[in-house]
Amino acid sequence: MHSNSIDKTPSFSSLSLDEQLLSAVKKLGFEQPTPVQLQSIPLALEHKDLLVSAETGSGKTAAFLLPALHHLLTLPSGKSGVRALILTPTRELAQQIFKHCQQLTEFTDLKTGLITGGDDFRLQQNMLRRNTEIVIATPGRVLELMEQEIPDFSNLEVLILDEADRMLDMGFSEDVLTIANSCNTQRQTLLFSATLTHFGVIKMADRVLKNHEVVALNTLHDGHRNIEQQIVLADDNDHKLKLLIWLLQNETYDKALVFTNSRIQADALRGPLRGQKLRVGVLHGEMDQKDRNRMMELFREGEVKIMLATDLAARGLDIKGINLVINFDVPRNGINYIHRIGRTGRVDELGLTIALVKHTEWNLMSGIERFLKQKFKHRNIKELEGKYKGPKKLKASGKATGGKKKIEPKKAAVEKVKIRDRDKKNVGKRRVPTVKPTIEVNQP
Ligand code: AMP
Repeated sequence: MHSNSIDKTPSFSSLSLDEQLLSAVKKLGFEQPTPVQLQSIPLALEHKDLLVSAETGSGKTAAFLLPALHHLLTLPSGKSGVRALILTPTRELAQQIFKHCQQLTEFTDLKTGLITGGDDFRLQQNMLRRNTEIVIATPGRVLELMEQEIPDFSNLEVLILDEADRMLDMGFSEDVLTIANSCNTQRQTLLFSATLTHFGVIKMADRVLKNHEVVALNTLHDGHRNIEQQIVLADDNDHKLKLLIWLLQNETYDKALVFTNSRIQADALRGPLRGQKLRVGVLHGEMDQKDRNRMMELFREGEVKIMLATDLAARGLDIKGINLVINFDVPRNGINYIHRIGRTGRVDELGLTIALVKHTEWNLMSGIERFLKQKFKHRNIKELEGKYKGPKKLKASGKATGGKKKIEPKKAAVEKVKIRDRDKKNVGKRRVPTVKPTIEVNQP
């Protein structure tokens, strides 16, 4: 990976890392932080929990190792036990991280250990007894050692879940949760995943992270995972209601979750849906706990197959068999969108999520697509086709209408001129690599 010297990217020294780490970075020949390092390191140095989307090759290993090592170096604990634990799906990856960690700790006294299946159990036991500060491990072997009550994570300061999506796909979900639950509750947790729209990752984030921030970068994998994401354009709320009823009557699903932005909207949809003989429940924050529990139970048991919910009510909702999520209202931001769609799909199943988008919500929806670096599929419901086809420019290009509309030559020429005019203003301006803003998520 080579950095561009003309670039205005800050240097590693501007990240306020310990000098011994900076020396190691220099020795490795890293000139500038990569985008994931630039975004994650300052937040991690504030000891915040993070959910980061980053792929192998992005420099993600140093993005989590450097702040963790800085923390261990600058805040000596004096307590026993492992101080930083990095869980990763495969032995090969664990070895790779181990090697990188040894390079980065070369000028320090920090001790790093590797715990993976297939290697000598006793050697690993001994290594843990020698107060190794940093442990890089695969979950299976850690659990085996935990059964012997060997690793002590009660004073753990940093827990890192690397390639969390892969770990979950490989069936390590319960193992990871068991390990996380045995760790010091005051720890910092950093969760790295190639994709943010993996339902298992979102559920895991709900369970292991506290008041976390999200760093959304480089989500090349998104859009190819468990969840198919669609947009259906709507004229107004009446049209949305018709579309909703049609979808609930015509889609195949075990359980469907319908999101609204307000309690009032959720309540308002109940009557018309029941009028269509659809058995629906409502979940919102102002219901008393007893009613909420009853509603959840009915949904869990499958007595009620459709649930109307607001964001707050659905946080932490972990119910099997939800394979359709409909956004009656477009969520207010990308993170809420991720949390909503994360309620669908099971490990081996595909979930479907459909957003009903009216003209006032178009920009919000586009913002969410940009945030996730994805383009969702536009779908037409022939029986209920409305007038709204998206903004004019998009209509002209035929994108929102499946390419059916022909552009008149004159109009197309005007469009082109407009684009050229705007482009002219940018002649000579350097394109700055886009770095996504981070968004704080406050969990209830
Ligand atoms: P990773 O995504 O962590 O697997 O890193 C991919 C490769 O990029 C590894 O060979 C790292 O050593 C290298 N690398 C990480 N950070 C930087 C950086 N800031 N500049 C140059 N190379 C880097």
